[in-house]
Amino acid sequence: MAIEQVIGIDLGTTNSAVCVWQKGQAVLVPNKWGEVLTPSVVGLDEQANLIIGRPARERLQSHHALTQASFKRYMGTEVSLALGSRQFRAEELSALLLRQLKEDAESWLGQKLTQAVITVPAYFNDVQRRAVKNAARLAGLDAIRLLNEPTAASLAFGLLENREQKYLTFDLGGGTFDVSVIDMFEGVVEVRASSGDIRLGGDDFSQAIVQWMLSQHPELKSAQAGLAAALLAKAESMKQMLSHATEAKASLEWAGRQWSWTFTEAQLAECSQPLLMRLQRPVQQALHDARFSLQDLDHILLVGGATRMPLVRQTVARLFGRFPRHDLNPDEAVALGAGIQAGMVMADAAVEDIILTDVMPFSLGIEVVKRHGNQIEPGFFLPLIERNTFLPVSKTETLNTVSDNQTCVLLKIYQGEGRRVQDNVFLGEMSIDVPPRPAGELTVDVRFTYTLDGLLEVECRYDGSPVIARLVIEKVPGQMSEEQIAASLQKLADIKQHPRDRQENRELLARCSRLYERLLGDERAWMDRLTTAFEQALEGQDLRRIASSREDAEHFLQQYKEGLLP
Ligand code: ADP
Ligand code: MG
Repeated sequence: MAIEQVIGIDLGTTNSAVCVWQKGQAVLVPNKWGEVLTPSVVGLDEQANLIIGRPARERLQSHHALTQASFKRYMGTEVSLALGSRQFRAEELSALLLRQLKEDAESWLGQKLTQAVITVPAYFNDVQRRAVKNAARLAGLDAIRLLNEPTAASLAFGLLENREQKYLTFDLGGGTFDVSVIDMFEGVVEVRASSGDIRLGGDDFSQAIVQWMLSQHPELKSAQAGLAAALLAKAESMKQMLSHATEAKASLEWAGRQWSWTFTEAQLAECSQPLLMRLQRPVQQALHDARFSLQDLDHILLVGGATRMPLVRQTVARLFGRFPRHDLNPDEAVALGAGIQAGMVMADAAVEDIILTDVMPFSLGIEVVKRHGNQIEPGFFLPLIERNTFLPVSKTETLNTVSDNQTCVLLKIYQGEGRRVQDNVFLGEMSIDVPPRPAGELTVDVRFTYTLDGLLEVECRYDGSPVIARLVIEKVPGQMSEEQIAASLQKLADIKQHPRDRQENRELLARCSRLYERLLGDERAWMDRLTTAFEQALEGQDLRRIASSREDAEHFLQQYKEGLLP
């Protein structure tokens, strides 16, 4: 029996890619648009048809209530993400994306696929890794192996066969920045430390450019809501132009006027400065945690689309005092590595990849208020234990009372990364009685302790009191049960597919091509024209056009029913 084809998938926060091992090399698999990167965006149209990838990304601003991006951030949490009136878990949205990647790869390879190697960030813990496996399962794929993204990059850079070495992967994607320090010896890849910034990526540079564009034409500020999508697209394209040229231009039609911009390298450098500054700390943190110095590193690997920016490369060169390796397209490196690993699995050899799972997957914290002058605004999240902290961990924070003579302090405990608690998962609450004092005079100590088996203990005590109030939260939520998976499979099956994939449309296309094969001359040309029109209507997902071109094709086919065949 032939060995089954295994595919490698980089399931990215911003973009995903598929790669296979063919004839001794890793080959990136194009999607149905002929592109190797598929934006990790999932949406529904007004008729509740699924839209995935580039067309979904194009609707991100215009139809934001019907579109979701960056859902990878919520893998393994209970956070519910809405597409219109429907609610999804991050696993489910990932499953819809994976299903599309699988189908595109199947049609490119001309065979059914059931097995995949999927990459995950090095800091993903057990719950998050299982969430990725579940997403694959929901998409009809068996994730036979999860590979750490930095390890995948090292495979792509051809480091595997080499001797012992130490290196750092500097991965700046669309919305996240991950730094991993790797120690490799005898084929074992050990992630010694990972650090990063979950709110920093290439998209922040585009946003900074939008701000610059508005500063040039302040009149546009009033129209920003309507123009947001167009401005962001122009900013993105100028940013990308400046990766190859020293100057970029953009123009836009609005309110009967032409608005234009000329953006230079120097201006980009200026608006990027605050973002570039933020690249430094995670690098130092990771080296410090790994107890490595800069001199210990054999290589610095650039990964992630945003490292295509010359400014980012210069910053890296400055930080490390040498040039990083960039002999691969940075946004393809992880997928290439997944493809290589898929090839190794097929050949019955795989990289031994020591994974680092004893880190805290999500931030844990409490609700606090913000004071603006006399105004008090509730609903803010104060993380006590930050994501990616090594376990077990115990941390204390000292807080002050907000109101005069308040006699009770209520602690609401949340899990998540959102700035506001409404974006996070509520875990529980406790209150302690305090003596009445003027606002701000009384201090309260809150201690969070998180153990290796997932127990969160919260202790709280006010200044001067010997008594400690204590709350234990068992098993921070995040995992899907078997029943939830079964229910989810049902739910995903119910979501309308792309019109192209619907049974009746597939059948009609098949009938058209069968008839085409039998016809000749003008009739054949006519059949071809009708088929093309139908295919284009399907791709456009315009239901009215689909219906009318369906009808035309049906009508034509009808003429060749029994007895009428030429
Ligand atoms: P992720 O790992 O988050 O899925 P990618 O590695 O694909 O994301 O990186 C996406 C980011 O890379 C986006 O912010 C995009 O703007 C940026 N990017 C892609 N190409 C370029 C380029 N030529 N110049 C500058 N930035 C780029
Ligand atoms: Mg990535």
